[in-house]
Amino acid sequence: MKLTFHGAAKTVTGSCTLLQIDKLKILIDCGLWQGSEEIESRNWLPFGFPPAKIDYVILTHAHLDHCGLIPRLVREGFAGEILCTEPTRDLARLVLTDSAQLYEEEAAVLSKKERRRGGGPIRPLYEIEDVLHSLDRFSDPIPLNKTIDLAKGIKLQLRDAGHVLGATFVQLRIAEGRKRPKRLIFSGDLGNTDKVLTPDPAEPEPSDVVILESTYGDRANRSMRDSIAELRQALLLTFARGGNVLIPSFALERSQELLAVLFQLYKRKELPGCQIFLDSPLALSVTKVFRRYSEYLKPEEAQALAHSPNAFDFPALRFARSSEESRAINALASHAVIIAGSGMCTGGRILHHLKHQLWRPECSIVFVGYQAEGTLGRKLIEGARTVRIFGEEIAVRAQIWTINGFSAHADQPGLLRWLSHAQKPEQIFLVHGEISSLVTLKHAIEAKLRRTAHIADWKETVEI
Ligand SMILES: [Zn+2]
Repeated sequence: MKLTFHGAAKTVTGSCTLLQIDKLKILIDCGLWQGSEEIESRNWLPFGFPPAKIDYVILTHAHLDHCGLIPRLVREGFAGEILCTEPTRDLARLVLTDSAQLYEEEAAVLSKKERRRGGGPIRPLYEIEDVLHSLDRFSDPIPLNKTIDLAKGIKLQLRDAGHVLGATFVQLRIAEGRKRPKRLIFSGDLGNTDKVLTPDPAEPEPSDVVILESTYGDRANRSMRDSIAELRQALLLTFARGGNVLIPSFALERSQELLAVLFQLYKRKELPGCQIFLDSPLALSVTKVFRRYSEYLKPEEAQALAHSPNAFDFPALRFARSSEESRAINALASHAVIIAGSGMCTGGRILHHLKHQLWRPECSIVFVGYQAEGTLGRKLIEGARTVRIFGEEIAVRAQIWTINGFSAHADQPGLLRWLSHAQKPEQIFLVHGEISSLVTLKHAIEAKLRRTAHIADWKETVEI
């Protein structure tokens, strides 16, 4: 039995691990590379395996860095089944359609330029049509915790990863002629504890091999209570200066979690007078999926959503669907909270807002999610004095905040706690982290859990 790390090895995006059991080939995730130009250029490289030979894709969750290359996989011949939970299937449909639209738009602009130079059209990474074909490949959804016979002697269970709605970690039991089946766990992305909407990650069963994400392997998140207090402080200070608060946010989960936090402040009458704009059509659609699958939320939150007001419907909250509605927000000088994507400021409506607010010292930019190397978001949190947006040099005068307690990822204590339930795995492979996180987490596992951990290399194959 072999594992090959085709993505998210020594970096945080492009999750894609190939598991080969005899002739059976299973991909765990098939994600997009995101971040610097060098990293994103990998989206165009040939897959490290023939897509037609893959039998299953097990999709842990609907973030683009886990599902974003599925349409290309299908276009290049994948004809197997995609296995995931019901919310993940619905969210992947939204996220992939949005992604294909962006690629089509980008290719149209580039094609125009290319034609003026006398060249031919530029093909997008994938198109809506590829997404539609991908949707045909999704099998009937797999309920959480239900054991499925994937093939002879191979049992699959998807467990709640507590990361985003419908997100799972993967437990496999592989008999392969052994007396005792080999137990494998792929962590996918593991959630932070104490979130408002989604439950904490489930505990994994004792396992022989663990493939573990390491995004925040080198840090401890602030508590939710401190993070909410810090967000309130950011709002109060910014509004007192006469500015707006911009929150770059992933459409999936961060936006909904933020609304839930702001609603908590509203309920406690601690929300400063303001208008809150969710300026993302994708986040708006995702919010509807949250309502549809409220059984995946914490029970008290699911109940609360049945009544008004609630986290997605309270007086201060406005939704901007059209680009006119989005542009109208720029006319407001103060007392606006603008939540817009993309979460790492690599595109989307947040760029327009940054262009209008970043140079204003009275404004604040509040980062609540992971900012990958090479992204505009990373440059801002690392203290860039000026940045280029739409070809224009913009001074960074707004106050920059980083509140990591709202993160969708487990911190080092959370990862160690989760891993400790796997008891005594013989092999631990660390993926989905930048080098410093991977190395710090490896040492922590060795010191605190007395297990050795291996940092997976890109394209590395290991026997398990
Ligand atoms: Zn994720």
